[in-house]
Amino acid sequence: MIPSDMFSLKGKVIIVTGGTGVLGASFVKGIAQQGGIPIILGQNAEKGNERVADIISNGGMAHFIAANVLEEAQLITAKNEILEKFGKIDGLVNGAGGNIPTGVLPPTEDVFNLNIEGMKDALVLNLWGTVIPVQVFGPEIAKTGNGSIVNISSVSSKRALTRVLGYSMGKAAIDTYTKWFAVEMANRYGDTIRMNSIMPGFFLTTQNKNLLTNTDGSYTDRGNAIIRNTPYKRFGHPDELVGALIWLLSDASKFVTGMDIGVDGGFTINSGV
Ligand code: NAD
Repeated sequence: MIPSDMFSLKGKVIIVTGGTGVLGASFVKGIAQQGGIPIILGQNAEKGNERVADIISNGGMAHFIAANVLEEAQLITAKNEILEKFGKIDGLVNGAGGNIPTGVLPPTEDVFNLNIEGMKDALVLNLWGTVIPVQVFGPEIAKTGNGSIVNISSVSSKRALTRVLGYSMGKAAIDTYTKWFAVEMANRYGDTIRMNSIMPGFFLTTQNKNLLTNTDGSYTDRGNAIIRNTPYKRFGHPDELVGALIWLLSDASKFVTGMDIGVDGGFTINSGV
């Protein structure tokens, strides 16, 4: 039998790290719309609490917890708070991450003069900022018998994108991690917990704004090159990631694990010819 509510997230408690960010705004709104309870985990309390209030005023449930994804002790405190308040954790979206400006190679800089420290920061945030929350919240998620973890990759893990090597290495590491961890979790926990990733294409957000747009709002050469190489000839809108996210968090994807789902307007499959 095909359940009519297989995309429902009704009553599911789902942590969204970086739920304070631009893509995170769509993630938490989408989860709440499907009846889930997003736990916004991030460092900007004002934004987090604003989003919680917005969801509650629309009849949903949500909760904000201030924590750094790289600080295990803070995550353990967050886990205890969630269990005390909601009694379980059904899912985790690892949305905290992004490019680190000091890890970017400027076009005029010698390729043999990479900013290693900046690149390390990008790698640490994107990779370990995904791995550590899974270590802390994963055991609780497995206990529900039907848990789902969604990591956030990037097209930069598949295609060479100029300038952002540290960030790209972080996202490529997430791809390896997603596959490896999905298999190893299945070996030990069976089908009670799954891990997949979403590979967003290009979405105009705060962290890439300066790379993609000029101060007058027109696109930079890089912005134009992206549009040219995207078959849909436009950037994505954050809300366009929500369908893939709901699918991966809901029972509709019960037999899906270790997969990377592209939402990129065709960027990664385009040869340009
Ligand atoms: P964003 O900067 O708006 O959101 C990231 C959020 O994570 C911010 O609220 C930030 O405060 C939070 N954060 C950063 N470090 C943290 C830490 N140590 N602990 C807790 N929270 C922390 O960025 P975004 O554009 O919404 O991106 C979200 C995710 O999607 C990132 O992983 C990014 O790499 C990925 N992504 C974005 C795009 C895009 O086009 N914007 C494309 C591909 C992938």
